[in-house]
Amino acid sequence: MSDASFLAWPFFEARHRQHAAALERWAAESLGAIDHHDADTACRALVGALGRDGWLEGTAPPPDRPDGALDVRALALSRETLARHDGLADFTFAMQALGAGPISLFGSAAQRAEWLTRTRAGTAVPAFALTEAASGSDVAALASTARRDGNEWIVDGEKTWISNGGIADVYVVFARTGEAPRARGLSAFVVPATTPGLRVVERLQAIAAHPLARVRFDACRLPASAIIGRPGDGFKIAMATLDVFRTTVGAAALGFARRALDEAVTVCRSRQRFGAPLAELQLVQAHLADMALEVDASALLVYRAAWAKDTGTARITREAAMAKLHATEAAQRVIDASVQLHGGEGVRAGGVVERLYREIRALRIYEGASDVQRVIIARAILAEDGAA
Ligand SMILES: Cc1cc2nc3c(=O)[nH]c(=O)nc-3n(C[C@H](O)[C@H](O)[C@H](O)COP(=O)(O)OP(=O)(O)OC[C@H]3O[C@@H](n4cnc5c(N)ncnc54)[C@H](O)[C@@H]3O)c2cc1C
Repeated sequence: MSDASFLAWPFFEARHRQHAAALERWAAESLGAIDHHDADTACRALVGALGRDGWLEGTAPPPDRPDGALDVRALALSRETLARHDGLADFTFAMQALGAGPISLFGSAAQRAEWLTRTRAGTAVPAFALTEAASGSDVAALASTARRDGNEWIVDGEKTWISNGGIADVYVVFARTGEAPRARGLSAFVVPATTPGLRVVERLQAIAAHPLARVRFDACRLPASAIIGRPGDGFKIAMATLDVFRTTVGAAALGFARRALDEAVTVCRSRQRFGAPLAELQLVQAHLADMALEVDASALLVYRAAWAKDTGTARITREAAMAKLHATEAAQRVIDASVQLHGGEGVRAGGVVERLYREIRALRIYEGASDVQRVIIARAILAEDGAA
């Protein structure tokens, strides 16, 4: 059983503690039944199960409550809990929230009514299509375009590394509309997967299997109403969405790390070496202590950022970047230590810690690579000091 003492921290309200306990029970009972051999099929089954049992309701506010804020603490607790049990379940949950994020935060009433009811029920799968091969981290340099033609928008371009690419029902696509150079000339659009001209040109295989694809948009015609917010708002929409969800990437990493620590404690208590359990070796204890310290530090940063957002801090750019940077980097170290403490069994293909070792890696890259988070934190600090 994982350490749940953090739930007593003052960041949480009673509803968060109830939510975490109920999801823990559900995950323990339900996730084992999902066949994980094919990632696409598993994700469809997972989104169906999560939706059926109501766990996706927190991924977007109800469509009829435009002021309904996302509960970032509940999102983070959900991701931590699901990641501890099953990385693909966490991925599925996370993408229902991130994919629909721009619609949740900035969508029109019609966009919210059309999509959020379905993403919250698990009957529609969304994708967030920002990254391009030639610009990557330099989002302001993206080259996909959207131009007005009468009462329509025409979108052209190609996106890569798109989670849910190939299984999504709707893509939120960021494209250049040209109101101003770079960041101030981007806009966001709701593009149903059935739009003529939208093609999945390559399915991408990562070291931890997720639905991922390179997706092309060739003269995709969209109604004028497909734009999210106003022309030129795209960069702001992308960054505000990432501000919310970066904290939850840290929460997923925390879930992976907590599981790796639990597995290490179990093996160190049970494995006999040199006439006693491994846990009695002081160098082993030192590793366990460092791992526990990393886990608690990550939890403090993740739930600090979530609490700050939920209690009214308008932008949590610095806090979210700190949470993501520390929790993902620390989880990599904790999981590596757990693999080491498992000895040869740690690298057995299909084992729990081997799976965690593969699953954590991408979290240090997507939604802003670790060094990009460092740049964000440094800029925020320098701006506060009035030096930048
Ligand atoms: C599994 C997975 C899922 C993904 N899902 C999505 C998705 O759903 N939607 C989406 O739009 N994108 C998605 N991505 C893309 C992801 O966001 C990008 O891979 C990421 O932003 C980095 O872009 P890049 O791969 O082009 O690397 P690059 O931008 O080329 O960066 C490579 C490296 O260069 C360094 N670097 C780059 N910029 C800086 C800087 N300013 N300062 C210091 N160092 C820097 C860092 O070390 C960085 O890791 C996903 C990626 C992966 C791996």
